[in-house]
Amino acid sequence: MDAIEKDLDKLVNGGANLSKSIKDIDRCLEMLMAARSTIEKDPSATTSTLQNLEPELKAGFQAANDNLKGLYTGMGKYGKTLDKKFKRNDNENTFGALTNQQPLINRAIQMHLLREGNFEIADTFAKEAGIVESVPSVLEVEFRELFSIQESLRRKELQPAIEWAQKRSAQLEARASNLEFQLHSLQFQVFLYSGGPDGPAKALEYSKNFLVNFQNKYFQEIAQLAGYLLWREKLQTSLDDSSWRDIIDLFTTEFCALLRLSAESPLYVATTAGAIALPTFNKMAAIMKLKKTEWTSQNELPVEVPLPDKFKYHSIFVCPVSKEQTTDSNPPMMIPCGHVLAKDTVQKLARGTGSRYKCPYCPADSLPKDAREIYL
Ligand SMILES: [Zn+2]
Repeated sequence: MDAIEKDLDKLVNGGANLSKSIKDIDRCLEMLMAARSTIEKDPSATTSTLQNLEPELKAGFQAANDNLKGLYTGMGKYGKTLDKKFKRNDNENTFGALTNQQPLINRAIQMHLLREGNFEIADTFAKEAGIVESVPSVLEVEFRELFSIQESLRRKELQPAIEWAQKRSAQLEARASNLEFQLHSLQFQVFLYSGGPDGPAKALEYSKNFLVNFQNKYFQEIAQLAGYLLWREKLQTSLDDSSWRDIIDLFTTEFCALLRLSAESPLYVATTAGAIALPTFNKMAAIMKLKKTEWTSQNELPVEVPLPDKFKYHSIFVCPVSKEQTTDSNPPMMIPCGHVLAKDTVQKLARGTGSRYKCPYCPADSLPKDAREIYL
């Protein structure tokens, strides 16, 4: 394993210790609260309560500190290894450029904290970093609503989410979102499987009131749900957890989309993708040093970074002739035979004259003007 990967591993383990420390601190707080209520009830017990409290509290803080040590060491080592591996280039002053972006970085951190539901931490961060109104307060209100609805979905209560979706029915429809129907469909199944002996009757009643509005668009799905009514015993007796996880994910995506935000925190995506890519960059830097070559291609990496599928957002197209990745100024073009080449390649094949040229992949020939740009 590479030094960076090893240190990163240690850092991740340190993260587990952080959760332990938080638990320790929570326990200390509980002890303090308990002591306070004891003293409030019986002031004469003050001395003895405090005497009993002291050793336990000390041990609690000690445990929290011990757990944090590993994390501090991990963070220090990882930072040092990164500094050593990726030497700062003072001429280009990359880090200087980053400092100028500090307000943007602060905003990204604040947004991330809000999106994760850490409202108090976001507030403290904004105060300590001296951020004045960088994230509109209306967004915080929205995120609070998002979290309260997510919480109710985790408790398997659908009503708040359904009300939210009903209010925004038109906006969701404009996005071709099926959220509202999915919520009703899940509510139908909740009645059916968890409604006791009256379950099927409740589900049928619900479908008459709510699913009927969707029959034009989701006829097949509704027919399937009606089938559940008939074969309830044979199919399943309860909803599995994955249905709930899926609806929370769908709800989050749609909620964020209406705010014109991505469902995942950009800061989380960027740092995670960066951490995954780091060993590859490190290897690349070592090879470039060994072969004494430079990285010359612009806006393009000379190596592929293996990212998980959910981190892939844009399809890319590499021209099969020039082996170049297509760009806005050199887009992929489909020629009449159906083969796709980069625009520059088509022009080169036609020798820049607009004359007929033969497709490199089949016998067909065509004119450059008949090539159509395609959008991936
Ligand atoms: Zn062809």
